[in-house]
Amino acid sequence: MTAPILIVEDEVALAVVASQYLQREGYATVMIHDGDQAMEWLRTHQPLLVVLDRMLPGTDGLTLCRELRKTSDVPIIITTARVEEIDRLLGLELGADDYLCKPYSPRELVARVKAILRRTHPQSHGTHLQLDEGSNRVRLGSHAAELTAVEMRLLQVLMQNPGRIYSRDQLMDTIYPDQRLVSDRTVDSHIKNLRKKLSLLDAQREFVRSVYGAGYKFEL
Ligand code: CA
Repeated sequence: MTAPILIVEDEVALAVVASQYLQREGYATVMIHDGDQAMEWLRTHQPLLVVLDRMLPGTDGLTLCRELRKTSDVPIIITTARVEEIDRLLGLELGADDYLCKPYSPRELVARVKAILRRTHPQSHGTHLQLDEGSNRVRLGSHAAELTAVEMRLLQVLMQNPGRIYSRDQLMDTIYPDQRLVSDRTVDSHIKNLRKKLSLLDAQREFVRSVYGAGYKFEL
């Protein structure tokens, strides 16, 4: 996922905060504070998504949105300071994917961006974990974490049947096939470390869930 998210916003401070939050989630960003410049940039670049302010110096957000839609189906989030305007904007059928009222919280923006990209870029956004056995790495989109061999094995087993609950004994058999005598706690501590690493890939999701009294399961 190398294409950046384009933030077209003339309130520089707001653009900077939005950009920082998105970068923290692993997205590259480009900020442009003027409609004409944005139009120019878009002629030669293909962003992953556009956060587009409605009121801009130069070409306004709505015109930009319409122009962009003639040649591109890039996801667009329109932001507007006028709440009462959103209904009207919806009625104009601009082809935007979402609308956000200003002032918006950057967290809300990140959530909307993720939701749209999950829908439009299921692969490149990486809603699925990818395991690289050779290097014991697990990837999600542009994020990666390094696992121990045991954590890798546990994750592989759990991922074979998402939703299925594996008992500690079953998991122990898979990581220590020679029936070495290890305590239940061993599995728990490996799982705990594994979950910690997976949370670095996406803090919002719980990939490995513990089922009280039963064991663990993998959630898609
Ligand atoms: Ca503005």
